[in-house]
Amino acid sequence: INLWKKTMNNIEQTLSIIKPDAIERNLDSEIKKEFINKGFKITKEKKIQLTKSEAEEFYKVHETKPFYNDLCTYLSSGPIVVMILEKEDAVIANREFMGATDPKKAEEGTLRKKFGVSIDKNSVHGSDSVENAKIEINFFFKD
Ligand code: UDP
Ligand code: MG
Repeated sequence: INLWKKTMNNIEQTLSIIKPDAIERNLDSEIKKEFINKGFKITKEKKIQLTKSEAEEFYKVHETKPFYNDLCTYLSSGPIVVMILEKEDAVIANREFMGATDPKKAEEGTLRKKFGVSIDKNSVHGSDSVENAKIEINFFFKD
């Protein structure tokens, strides 16, 4: 059974967003290269700008948090790049590669350590579970 587990791969998809602060600094191609070098496949991507109410819908899980309004204003403040990333265990792999929410606490070698400016301008979003990845992928790429 252990041998079977070791040889099985668990290819997943997760949703990644390059947030307005990173797009504003023209970091999108560099961040995409980082994902590819880390073994992620970008299977779909688009550059869009959300309305405030779309951002509110996307971040609905945070609606009771004190930072919710600023967060939604910020996410809708400029263009973003949304991507479907594919890799073995993509959800957790992406969360690890992004690093802690607060760039000051993010580990060496993570995207938020490298590119993040502050807890709100932390350059990237990534789904936090397989279930939420499906919901978030469907939010941006329903077809
Ligand atoms: N955020 C913020 N202030 C906080 C906590 C979070 O502005 O005190 C923002 C931050 O940009 C973060 C987003 O809200 O990426 C969503 O928060 P979450 O706790 O889900 O962090 P994430 O999953 O992005 O690491
Ligand atoms: Mg989150």
